[in-house]
Amino acid sequence: MKLEKLADRFRIDKPDSFRLADIDPRDTAGLDIDKDEAKEMLKDSIQRLSDLQDVLYAQDRWAVLAIFQAMDAAGKDGVIKHVMSGVNPQGCQVYSFKAPSTLELDHDFLWRTTVAMPERGRIGIFNRSYYEEVLVVRANPKILAAQKMPPSLVGEDIWEERFEDIRNFEKYQARNGTLMLKFFLHVSKNEQAKRFLERIDDPSKNWKFNKGDVAERKNFDEYMRYYEELIRETSRPNAPWFVVPADRKWFTRLVVVSALIEAMESLDLHYPKVDQSIRAELQEARLALAAELPAKNGKKNGDKVNRKSAAKS
Ligand code: ATP
Ligand code: MG
Repeated sequence: MKLEKLADRFRIDKPDSFRLADIDPRDTAGLDIDKDEAKEMLKDSIQRLSDLQDVLYAQDRWAVLAIFQAMDAAGKDGVIKHVMSGVNPQGCQVYSFKAPSTLELDHDFLWRTTVAMPERGRIGIFNRSYYEEVLVVRANPKILAAQKMPPSLVGEDIWEERFEDIRNFEKYQARNGTLMLKFFLHVSKNEQAKRFLERIDDPSKNWKFNKGDVAERKNFDEYMRYYEELIRETSRPNAPWFVVPADRKWFTRLVVVSALIEAMESLDLHYPKVDQSIRAELQEARLALAAELPAKNGKKNGDKVNRKSAAKS
């Protein structure tokens, strides 16, 4: 299978009929490779992503946003670390969204993420996002109560209204040049328990363990229902969801990077074109610079005019 097409099977193109149960967290799409082969494939893909990012940055027209949502220990941090390891930090920005501050609670629910949207030419990563507003906020009524909404605006349609607001926001972003990809890292409840145990047993992972995560795990099935619904309601061609099997970390990473590559390749990315007058300026600057360097083999540097560009200008 071509790696670029790997992500297609996990992109939710028909949201109305989407069922989370159809995606097995242990799926590896029949890819029967060992860890070293997977590493090698990931390395090649990361190089490709890095090349695309270079053009994205130089062209400075499109922005790319990758949103990561998942239950705890599904591997968001690892995906972000590995997939972005090859990209130029200057063209990339990562934001992690935790429980909102009092300032953030004084604004509408899309405010804090809107100011963090990537600039043109950059890849933005959201580690959690406004989707928490239809997940953790839905699972914990106390959080909604603390949002300082006028009571008359909090009715039983609130989640439906938020889905609509999110769809509209994403459409608006797409129309303004942000390519948006959303990843739900789908880990099984069993695998989550194993990873929590590892965090407890391995002293170097103790810092990752959070007692609250075990409490939230009690609501695992409820969260799955919320995820299913939000994916149905907000997977659209201009901001598709990818439901990525997350029990095998190497596979999750390959799917994410392949989705990013495929989507970025669909943009009309190219280095800015240099017109004739600029080429002439370049040639002039070249001659002046070369003349400043000491002569080599009796020849002056300025003699060596770049024939290709001279012919063009
Ligand atoms: P890790 O994998 O390291 O645990 P994390 O993303 O879970 O990373 P934490 O600091 O553990 O980071 O958790 C952030 C918490 O903030 C999550 O429990 C999340 O549900 C919560 N959170 C994020 N956005 C909101 C929001 N809008 N309202 C309330 N809680 C939120
Ligand atoms: Mg956490």
